[in-house]
Amino acid sequence: MKNKLTSAVVAAQWRDNQADPAAVVRHAVELYHPALALAASFSLEDLVLIDLLMAVRADARVFALDTGRLNPESYDCAEAIRRRYGVQIEWYFPRHEAVEKLEREKGLFSFRASVAARQECCFIRKVEPLQRALHGLQAWLTGLRREQAVTRSALPVIETDAAHGGIVKIAPLADWTLEQVWAYVRAHKLPYNRLYDQGYASIGCAPCTRAIAPGEEQRAGRWWWENPEHKECGLHTHGRPPPT
Ligand code: SF4
Repeated sequence: MKNKLTSAVVAAQWRDNQADPAAVVRHAVELYHPALALAASFSLEDLVLIDLLMAVRADARVFALDTGRLNPESYDCAEAIRRRYGVQIEWYFPRHEAVEKLEREKGLFSFRASVAARQECCFIRKVEPLQRALHGLQAWLTGLRREQAVTRSALPVIETDAAHGGIVKIAPLADWTLEQVWAYVRAHKLPYNRLYDQGYASIGCAPCTRAIAPGEEQRAGRWWWENPEHKECGLHTHGRPPPT
């Protein structure tokens, strides 16, 4: 461990380093690599962060969760990224015993029954694998942005992640707009998920994601049968920002 990651230490490390995403990513690598990894679902935001991360060091770590229910287009994008950067993506799968039990007892679409049933599926396929992925890390990077949803409107760039042992959680693009993200993707010709060209704005598991209509909130196509306040899968339970 390079540092004991108290909130005061984290705050001192990050003071004056929260403005420019490239600087945030570089600072994160300098402080925490190899105990730092980017959680990638190959969203547009993740593509920006992978590009920034690989520019700092080619062996920076990227992990991804294969829920078993992803769209083929998401796998295509992941492969395109792997080839472009030569990055070894650390894939995590759900515990097969838990998926087998869920599907045998409740079928293949139990998540549509209720919020609790959906959270059960998300826990098995995402939250528990994430816990394993984060084990041993001091910090993780995410592509979250405030603009994405009401549940993310107060998102800090840096927070201590109480839900994951108090490690540091970093969202370099927290205050970026969707337009800024697209501008970066286009300027750098990043290979992106083709579902974005079909009206998708936020892409998760295939049966829980649909395209959105013009003017709808960016995450309106995720679990569209639920209220906006419930639209988190449990991966991003907000901790608290370090004191400044
Ligand atoms: S997004 Fe849907 S299919 Fe994927 S883990 Fe959550 S409930 Fe299950």
